[in-house]
This record gives sequence, structure tokens and C-alpha cells, in this order.
Amino acid sequence: MTDTTTLEGAGQTAAPLSAQMPIPGHIDPVPVPRPTLVDGVTPREDGRIDVLGLPKKRIAELFEAAGLDAKAAKLRGKQVYHWLYHRGVTDFEAMTDIAKTMRPWLAERFVIGRPEIVEAQHSTDGTRKWLLRTADGHDFEMVFIPDADRGTLCVSSQVGCTLNCRFCHTGTMRLVRNLTVGEIVGQVMLARDSLGEWPRTAAEAASKTMAGLDQDEDENGEYQGDYHASGRLLTNIVMMGMGEPLYNFDNVRDALKLVMDGEGLALSRRRITLSTSGVIPQMERCGQEIGVNLAVSLHAVTKEVRDEIVPINKKYGIEDLLAACASYHGASNARRITFEYVMLKDKNDSDEDARELVRLLKHYKLPAKVNLIPFNPWPGAAYECSTPERIRAFSNIVFEAGISAPVRTPRGRDIDAACGQLKTAAEKRSRAEMDRLYAEKDAALAV
Ligand code: SAH
Ligand code: SF4
Repeated sequence: MTDTTTLEGAGQTAAPLSAQMPIPGHIDPVPVPRPTLVDGVTPREDGRIDVLGLPKKRIAELFEAAGLDAKAAKLRGKQVYHWLYHRGVTDFEAMTDIAKTMRPWLAERFVIGRPEIVEAQHSTDGTRKWLLRTADGHDFEMVFIPDADRGTLCVSSQVGCTLNCRFCHTGTMRLVRNLTVGEIVGQVMLARDSLGEWPRTAAEAASKTMAGLDQDEDENGEYQGDYHASGRLLTNIVMMGMGEPLYNFDNVRDALKLVMDGEGLALSRRRITLSTSGVIPQMERCGQEIGVNLAVSLHAVTKEVRDEIVPINKKYGIEDLLAACASYHGASNARRITFEYVMLKDKNDSDEDARELVRLLKHYKLPAKVNLIPFNPWPGAAYECSTPERIRAFSNIVFEAGISAPVRTPRGRDIDAACGQLKTAAEKRSRAEMDRLYAEKDAALAV
């Protein structure tokens, strides 16, 4: 149904943004700080505000600040929110329940952005990797891994990482910055764009039916207006791309809220996993405020080895980490915590290590499963991957103790898309530079 209301208050209390912000100089304008209409929201260079990443309430506040009366702003906020996050629309003109005259008013003042795609690569095994760029020119990556029964999007939370796990390529990047809410949720939205997976409207579904095409039906043959996993390519999200998500807690939380909102991207929290290297103080908040599945990068069972390969261990040790896992809100036998364990030759892969792992998990009565990750090599890495026989022996010990311990199949290695290989080309460094960087980061962690 098309709404025929007029521009409620539009333009009556506020002039167009461009008129409010004269840029000095005729030929070579010098950048001036742009006014902030609502706390923390800064217009783009062209004066328009990007609403990607904002919650419904903030969108309504911006509409009000731009001149709509409160009631109209609330209604328009709700409508735009729906088109933006639920339908994936980036053009106000396509928002058919908003009055035709209102759409250009919105487009003049607001924009719905996406991270820029610099490069899209396809692996021979079907894995896809996108090199993305923020509006201020920082590169980061996201990866899509299709499987027979699911499709997982691996989302980045930071450009680079402040931590420096010795086996991780991302850890050799200097952290450039945290990704914003829009840049995080924008990855999921870009993936849906690329895979053509936005829920269709009832009208579109009906026209498809009339054309004799397949419908978006559930097992009872009913139309599914929402985003349901069945028949989809993108079914799961893991916060396992670049960066430590719990060091960018607020933005990750706000982005995942948009992903989980039934009126937003509507993906079930059960299909979302956040992976942390063990930032204990934020783990409890993660359970309380986000409530997604937790994966913990354990990787070693002794202080000596974990200090070396996951240096945050010097700050937050194994015992405290496991105790924090035991009290993680939402963990249960039905929703077990995943412990990631990278298999490094002669470093952490002995039978004794496997037995100690079992002992620790049992001691803390953890509803756990262990994910064994064959080490993915990268140029200059100081480790080698354990042999397949060693990995199998390790897995058997854990499995025989009653804990599931599958070995993760490396995916997308040919396009450097596998775990720990993410690092943008602009950031490739020499071994000497990396050693210097490790020393700097170690020093920073020690304080
Ligand atoms: N920073 C978070 C999430 C991103 S890393 C974390 O550390 O948990 C996602 C997973 O890939 C982590 O378990 C990480 O330890 C693992 N990983 C990093 N480098 C790897 C490599 N070279 N080979 C295999 N796994 C790696
Ligand atoms: Fe950062 Fe995770 Fe890589 Fe460690 S493994 S350096 S925490 S991205």
C-alpha cells in the first residue's frame, strides 16, 4: 500500500543541509568540521548522513533534527529501518510505502551506504573473499564459506588486531582502527546483496508464483516473509575475521543486535558465534548483552606455551579464562562453548597436551566442544602445521573422553581466506619489521 501523506514539516524548520554548511573557499575548499546533528553522527562530505548502522530510534531522531515533526519522524524511522535492514534496499525511491514526495526529501539529506568492495575472489572450493574499504580508506576482509548444509560468513571486527598471537597473520598488522557498527553490519548486508538473499515482499513472491517460479516456502508450503535458514546460502555468522571482537565490544554488540532483530536482518542468535582470544572482563558482558554462541581461542594448555602463542594469556591466564567460560551466560549442554585449538607441530600437539585439555575441560565442568584447526601457514610464520596423524591422535584422545573434537577442514587457502590468513596486501611486511612489531606489542601488553 502506498502512503499518500505529505512532507510532514519537511523543510519548514530546517534548511537543506548543504545550506547550513557553507564550505569556505571557491576553488580549493578546505575541510571544516561538519556540524553534528545528533550526538556521534557526522554527515559525509556531501552533507548527507549515512544511516547504515543506526538503530531505529537514532534514525527517527535524525529525521526529526532534519525537520520532521516527532510523530512523522517516528513513523518514517520505522519504515526506513524496515527497508534498510529487513529488505536490503539502498535507494529511498524503492521504499514504496513512503509517499512519493517524501522520498526525494530523504535522498537529499540521507544515504544508505555499504562498505566499498575493492576486490572479490573465488576459491576453487567455493569459498569467497571480499577485500573491503572503509570510507576513510582502510582495508579489511570478509569471507563466505559454503558447505553442504550451511553457509558461514566470517565477519571482521577491526582493521588489523592489537593482539599478536604468533601464528596469526592478522596479528602482524598494526591496528588501524575499530570498525564502526555500519561497517560490521554492512558486511552481512553486502553478503546478502552478493548472494541475492534479501527476503522478498509478498507482492514479489506472488508475481514469481504467477510466473511459475519457485516460492520462498516453508515445509508447510507457507510463504516466508522473514529470513529463514532453510534453502539459504548464508545461514550462519562467525565473528572470526580480522580483529578481536571483544576489544570493539560496543560496536560489535550494536551491529549484532541489528543482525538478530526480527524486524532487522532477523538471523537467529543460535546461528551466530563470537570468537575471542580470551578478553575475560568483556566475556560476561558478551553473554548478558549479546547472548550469542561463544568460541574461545584456547590453543594451549600450559601457561608457558599459551604465553608464547596467545600473549594475552600473560594478562588473562588459562584458569581464569576457563572459570569465565564456566559462568558464561547461555552456555549449556545444548549450547556448548567451542574451544578452538590450532595444531602447531611440536608446540601444543602431544598426547599429553590432549589429556591435559580433557582434564581442564572436565575440571571446570564445561559444556564444551573442541575445534581442532590445522595451522594455516603464511610467509614468515614461525610455526608448522602438525602432521595429519598427530592431529588424528590428538582428536581421538579428546573424543574418547566424551568431548567432540572435529578437525576443521581448511577452506579457501588458495586465496588466503583461511583462519588467520587474513591480512590485506597493503600490510605485507618483512620478517624484521614483524619482529620489531611483536616486541612493541609485547611491551604494550606487559603494562
Ligand atoms: N580474534 C579472535 C577472532 C578472530 S581469529 C580470536 O582470536 O578468537 C579466528 C580463529 O582463527 C581463532 O581461533 C584464531 O586463533 C585462529 N587462527 C589465527 N591464525 C591462524 C592460523 N594461521 N591457522 C589456523 N588458525 C588460526
Ligand atoms: Fe588477533 Fe585473533 Fe589473530 Fe590473535 S588470533 S592476533 S586475537 S585476530
